[in-house]
Amino acid sequence: MSKFLAERLVPFEAYVPGEQPQDRKYVKLNTNESPFPPSPYAERLARQAAGGLNLYCDPECRVLTSVAAESFGVSSEEMIFTNGSDEVLNFAFLAFCDDASPAVFPDITYGFYKVFAGLNGVPYREIPLTEEYRVEVRDYFDAKGTIFLANPNAPTGVAITKAEIESILQKNPDHVVVIDEAYVDFGGESALPLIGKYENLLVTRTFSKSYSLAGGRLGIGFACPALIADLKKIKYSTNPYNVNSMTAAAGIGALTDREYFLRNMAIIKENRARMTASLEAMGFTVLPSSANFIFAKCADISGEVIYKELKKKGVLVRYFDKDRLRDFVRISVGSAEETDALLRAVKQIKEERA
Ligand code: PMP
Repeated sequence: MSKFLAERLVPFEAYVPGEQPQDRKYVKLNTNESPFPPSPYAERLARQAAGGLNLYCDPECRVLTSVAAESFGVSSEEMIFTNGSDEVLNFAFLAFCDDASPAVFPDITYGFYKVFAGLNGVPYREIPLTEEYRVEVRDYFDAKGTIFLANPNAPTGVAITKAEIESILQKNPDHVVVIDEAYVDFGGESALPLIGKYENLLVTRTFSKSYSLAGGRLGIGFACPALIADLKKIKYSTNPYNVNSMTAAAGIGALTDREYFLRNMAIIKENRARMTASLEAMGFTVLPSSANFIFAKCADISGEVIYKELKKKGVLVRYFDKDRLRDFVRISVGSAEETDALLRAVKQIKEERA
């Protein structure tokens, strides 16, 4: 830290992303990426777009917008495209949170919410998950702030229903409710059909997981046109060119190749079921996951030991050194081969310690 850093940022702690180690080749199940490459069509369109990089990209992402409007069944005015969904979430903290509307989110959820609140100098309140690591929707009625809920939640993978989200929207008519659907394609129930009905709903989605474009950085916010206009005010005051032309082109390809998307979702769900059943058979407790990762704890080995032992065996998972999370590891659901490698390594660890 230099002596020049603004005073308000001195105590501020930045987000720590999952490890991306380069020292050896790992079976990488720690950052919930897709094990599959992008759709070949997405890659082809991105390559073509590279030839036009001398020109600025379209700040309105018009072609992507029309393809996405068709794909998601919404109108063009109900969407904003961003540099990953992290960016639209940050925009939401900037646009909709202040002293009169502090951020409200679960005590166990996506770690970036707290960081965005800190960066933007916004007060926040955390609501504990239940004993079963569930969001109790009644705890969010009349919450007196801007609500952020990841659904399915991270790192638990546990989801709430559309009806539950609707009840939160109805009980907070004067505050925005942000539903972060980064993982919804893997089995959650989307709140997207509600955007025409509730002026206070913002749904965020990402291309990083189900569309295999984490490195491309593409996210979407869905909301009524007035909320989208507020978010665009932030976008046009920071970086109108936040989605580069290659990424916009890749997004068009990914949305168009529906067959590839559906096949990959089916494979991940199949591998999730197999991984869950096999870990349970080895004495693990696995929270019911609707995401492309599972949150699992072993009866007799701590999360930290599992994480370290797996890393030694070349398998990376994520461990959180935090109350109520220490017993667990979060494991991304990968390909069939990656699932085999993970299960083999866990079996070895159990045998070595028996
Ligand atoms: N929301 C949740 C719950 C996440 O886990 C992530 C990925 N770390 C994001 C949003 C952001 O993903 P991206 O910026 O890649 O769209």
